Amino acid sequence: MEFSSKDTRAASPLHRAAAKAARTYLDYNATAPLCPEAKAAMIAALECAGNPSSVHADGRRARALVETAREQVAALVGAKPSQVVFTSGATEANAWALSPDFDTVFVSGIEHDSVLANAKAGRATVVSIPAGPDGIARIETMAAQVLSGKALGRAIVALQMANNETGVIQSVADLASFAREHSLSVHTDAVQAVGRIAIDFRELGVDTLALSAHKMGGPKGVGALVIRDGFELSPLIRGGGQERRRRAGTENVAAIAGFGAAAVVAVSGLQDVGRIAALRDHLEANVRAASSGAIVIGANAPRLANTSLLALKGKSAENLIIKLDLAGISVSAGSACSSGKVGQSHVLTAMGLEPEIASSAIRVSLGPETTENDIAAFLAAWTTIAKQPALAA
Ligand code: PMP
Repeated sequence: MEFSSKDTRAASPLHRAAAKAARTYLDYNATAPLCPEAKAAMIAALECAGNPSSVHADGRRARALVETAREQVAALVGAKPSQVVFTSGATEANAWALSPDFDTVFVSGIEHDSVLANAKAGRATVVSIPAGPDGIARIETMAAQVLSGKALGRAIVALQMANNETGVIQSVADLASFAREHSLSVHTDAVQAVGRIAIDFRELGVDTLALSAHKMGGPKGVGALVIRDGFELSPLIRGGGQERRRRAGTENVAAIAGFGAAAVVAVSGLQDVGRIAALRDHLEANVRAASSGAIVIGANAPRLANTSLLALKGKSAENLIIKLDLAGISVSAGSACSSGKVGQSHVLTAMGLEPEIASSAIRVSLGPETTENDIAAFLAAWTTIAKQPALAA
């Protein structure tokens, strides 16, 4: 398994080889390793000196790279190239979609922080949509509020396509069809779903859709907001006329080219979902067999094939992750740990899980490079660690 940050720090070729062989990367929902196609596209793009806004030949070369990537990303999600606006990532795309243009935001409690924080920022009315213990947002409670006839002003509903912790897939198309009938806008964060389930922007019927390159084998720091034709959204970042005046700033050409290349790979990767699902199911069956108290959170809901959120009541997720790390395995806690610390997961809290379960949840997430050996390595480590009494919090 390629895990380059470790490689470059290693002292000798021998050390490098050992470090490489030792790691098992099962944290694709945090970020996926850069795929070779994206890396090659980025290196080629770095050779291009031009600014995509320049009219000369060098500028036109850079422009062509950006426009090719736009077509590739659009093809991945069934959108028109003109509907794709490149951003610095999904955090920016989510922040933009939930701009001050809206008076009321309905937001599910299981959204990513970049949706929740921007929904709440300086807003008069934010209505939370609850989630059930199965991990599914209860959009019917939102519908009831809409039907109660309270004045909402310009209103938008934010519902992710799939959750980053549980992998549970949400009913975005149903929500969009209800929303259309009631003059509500819909934003969906498709970061975890893209490349893992087929997405057709037009069929989905949403107004805006956020993407991030680094969850699908592209580079970090680039993403996109896909915007329905005719949908009014003031720019979040103002300045130059880039991205048809919708998002100012010189395009990050190399990152955008890498995003495009990763999108092409992701289209073909959709055929690999059955293999990944079989690996994940094998993992869960063996985790349950090795530790009778193990719970698979969200197992009864439609889920992404690559995600498994495992809890062992009474055990500490932090402790488990450290021990797995020492055994050469990279997984995350069932919580956003952007500061490097394991905190309480707002997603699991919103699902109403007991704190004892929520604080023991670890997320194992697979990707196109995951092999049977990776799963075997995880299971060997899990079986040893789960038996250790010292693991109890
Ligand atoms: N939404 C979801 C569901 C995510 O998992 C993430 C990344 N953790 C983001 C948004 C933010 O994406 P980015 O890292 O591109 O800002």
